[in-house]
Amino acid sequence: MTDMLLEVDGLHVSYGKAEVLHGISLAMKPGSILTVIGANGAGKTTLLNAIMGLIPSTGQIRYNGQPIPRTVEARVAAGLCLVPEKRELFGTMTVEDNIELGGFLRSKHEREQMQEEVYQRFPRLAERRKQLAGTLSGGERQMLALARALMSRPRLLLLDEPSLGLAPKIVADILQIVAELRTTGVSILLVEQNARAALEIADEGYLVELGEVRKSGPAAELANDPSLMEGYLGRQ
Ligand code: ATP
Repeated sequence: MTDMLLEVDGLHVSYGKAEVLHGISLAMKPGSILTVIGANGAGKTTLLNAIMGLIPSTGQIRYNGQPIPRTVEARVAAGLCLVPEKRELFGTMTVEDNIELGGFLRSKHEREQMQEEVYQRFPRLAERRKQLAGTLSGGERQMLALARALMSRPRLLLLDEPSLGLAPKIVADILQIVAELRTTGVSILLVEQNARAALEIADEGYLVELGEVRKSGPAAELANDPSLMEGYLGRQ
């Protein structure tokens, strides 16, 4: 028996002949935020895509104490939801329609209930319901991507660099929202290059370099690790 929500054990991923993940292992408790930090090209996006089932991998992934379902569809149905780095919103559709699409697997009643919750959490989006998604600011687009993901009532949110391209003040706002989501029972696997900000809201941290876990531990410990200061924590 395990009390872990997600356990990744010896995960390998290759693109053609090039192996980019060389046996990654991690474990995540339900209701927690785990952050994977690391430089550009370390393999963070690849890790998320493999957990979501979007690319093939070898090794074991267990979810909720069981081998994770095989297909992406079954993983979505089991409560996984990926918010990709590019957000992938429908720019020529309204905020409202983008949000509604996120709940396509749910009943009409559930969708309406979730919409209310989402608009309460993101009042900015409520104000802009009728606006086209393509006209939103970077921070608002990230909020919309999160809101759309929440419509599927996920148990495990996989967030790929939610702070990418945002001004520091907006980064803080977005990560605050991510921290608050945990209180609703959603678990979050947060991939970030912005290590200091991510470790501030996370419970556990993993440093990935060149497709391997170099360090892991309580986020507060990693945030004060002198060996991470130079390369990862220096920029505030
Ligand atoms: P970033 O912050 O730039 O997204 P990352 O840590 O998420 O970086 P990945 O995008 O997972 O890193 O990339 C890991 C490695 O795999 C890199 O060397 C990258 O060039 C390579 N890679 C990523 N996608 C592909 C692909 N589709 N085909 C071949 N190589 C790829």
